Amino acid sequence: MSDFYEILGIERNATKDEIKAAFRKKARQYHPDVNKAPDAEAKFKELGKAYETLMDDNKRATYDRYGEDGLRDAGFSTSGPFDGGFGSLNEIFESIFGGFGFSNYTQDPNAPQDGENLRLNLQIELEEAVFGVKKEIKISHMELCDECGGTGAEKGTKAETCPVCGGTGKVQQVIDTPLGSFRQIATCPKCLGKGQYNSHPCKKCHGEGRVETERTLRVNIPAGVDSGSRIGLAGEGNCGKNGGRTGDLIVVLSVKEHKEFKRRGTDLFSTVNLSFPQAAIGDTIEVNTIDGKKELVIPQGIQNEEILQIKGVGVPVLGNPNKRGNHKFIVKIQTPQNLNTEEKQLYKKLFEINRNKKPASKFIDKMKNVLHN
Ligand SMILES: [Zn+2]
Ligand SMILES: [Zn+2]
Repeated sequence: MSDFYEILGIERNATKDEIKAAFRKKARQYHPDVNKAPDAEAKFKELGKAYETLMDDNKRATYDRYGEDGLRDAGFSTSGPFDGGFGSLNEIFESIFGGFGFSNYTQDPNAPQDGENLRLNLQIELEEAVFGVKKEIKISHMELCDECGGTGAEKGTKAETCPVCGGTGKVQQVIDTPLGSFRQIATCPKCLGKGQYNSHPCKKCHGEGRVETERTLRVNIPAGVDSGSRIGLAGEGNCGKNGGRTGDLIVVLSVKEHKEFKRRGTDLFSTVNLSFPQAAIGDTIEVNTIDGKKELVIPQGIQNEEILQIKGVGVPVLGNPNKRGNHKFIVKIQTPQNLNTEEKQLYKKLFEINRNKKPASKFIDKMKNVLHN
């Protein structure tokens, strides 16, 4: 997947004029009318796609942040303007230098247009991912203008046949380009190809038919989600135009790092610090789990790095909240430091006893088994 800026040979902060100029230069280089190389057509199509994306502020912002995949996720069409075929270099230049972009060149402005999907990143706590949570989120999306009902016309007025194009949506123009002057059919600049024009646009939406509206939505986050989990809210994206369907809102979750617990799949991990005597003799200690305090039995003779677990207090399986992973405790045995006189005497005594005893730790036993097998 090539970078749109690289395809056009421009900086990431290029202005629209620079994008246009770059496109003009490259289009003349790669249009199959001029360039007979076998990959010219593919390159030309890529060029069109890069140009179209970067000339559209919304698409460009999405592309800058999330790349080409992000455009697809956000519901933008991923096909370029020339994928379905293209005209001569002159026709293409006309459509650009006429100032109407590609959208009017390939699309009927009166056809239903689907609303865009929107994406929202939401950060949640580990506890919320484990137990599920209902969250309120604020979003801004386009809704059908309630003032004009989406027609874009002020109440009591109606769009009339466009006086410039006589309702055809197209006009004849003489275009001067670096390749010479020629006559072309262009999109009508008055009605933008609609064929109808309203001289009294709706005051609320300025003729757009939709208005930006802020809404508070409730999102139900199920137990067991993880970073990257997506929750779709149907019909909460932007509303369409000319009766097109409304887009969806996609909430993408990220789970914050917990100060004590690490997560791997459905298991949670933490460490427990044990003293020498605790490890040697065994104990029952209180430990933190995501369900609160629990008792953990320390068997006698436990070794450093051994793993103990409490079953069923891990993360639930998404969609099956009764099935939960485990909490695993990694044992860290601490060598005593700063002994007082009494402790020092006791450890010395232990030391003397151990001096004539063969070390018989579990690890040594295991080693022997490995060596003998
Ligand atoms: Zn309106
Ligand atoms: Zn017109």
